Amino acid sequence: AIDVRDLHKSFGDNEVLRGIDVDVPDGQVVCVIGPSGSGKSTLLRCVNLLETPTSGQIFVEGAEITDPDADVDALRSRIGMVFQQFNLFPHMTVLRNLTIAQEKVRRRSRAEAVEVARRNLAKVGLAERADAYPAHLSGGQQQRVAIARALSMDPDMMLFDEPTSALDPELVGDVLAVMKDLATEGMTMMVVTHEMGFAREVGDKLVFMDGGVIVEEGDPRAVLADPQHERTKAFLSKVL
Ligand code: ATP
Ligand code: MG
Repeated sequence: AIDVRDLHKSFGDNEVLRGIDVDVPDGQVVCVIGPSGSGKSTLLRCVNLLETPTSGQIFVEGAEITDPDADVDALRSRIGMVFQQFNLFPHMTVLRNLTIAQEKVRRRSRAEAVEVARRNLAKVGLAERADAYPAHLSGGQQQRVAIARALSMDPDMMLFDEPTSALDPELVGDVLAVMKDLATEGMTMMVVTHEMGFAREVGDKLVFMDGGVIVEEGDPRAVLADPQHERTKAFLSKVL
């Protein structure tokens, strides 16, 4: 579970997050939507401590990751993150992309890392592409490799930041299908997305952010069908 309490983040005098409270219970999927610049990526990056919050608290599985004495590396290794740009290592095969962090961070043997990698490649439908280089895969395949790589670290939860936004439209569905499978298996997920169909179908909660605050949140079907706030209505009228 992820529990964010009164999170603030400023870059210089630009206050990007202005008091965010959100919780993601175990096994649930929280989708985050909102206009460009509203702070969605900054929120995810704070949860993964890629950014240091200015104030507020974040708990992961009950442990406060914002505590100055927290074991940041240990906590971060429990959270998988997938970005819009897949960030695969271009000079390594798909298999090596999946094994290197398992060996270096998880201290697994090569054989064990390969076994875990092959299991996760099969899960995302890419068992046959283990020996390919990223450049020889489509964007959708590369993103599925990125998901398999994150899963190979056995995370307790996954953060996705617009995982399908860089993809050609015909490649989006395969990636969303993998994410839906993960949700069905009970993975705890926080997903920044423009895919309202995914939010409606897979999300347990939908959060609408604007200007560094949560303007509205609730059951995705209810928020999408009947938004209560003017800013939510204006945003949804542009994207739906
Ligand atoms: P988008 O939909 O375009 O991805 P977003 O909701 O993810 O937008 P953020 O990337 O969180 O928005 O950015 C929110 C604000 O924070 C923006 O004004 C951005 O310029 C600023 N910002 C983000 N990261 C930094 C940084 N490292 N240094 C300075 N300003 C930053
Ligand atoms: Mg963003």
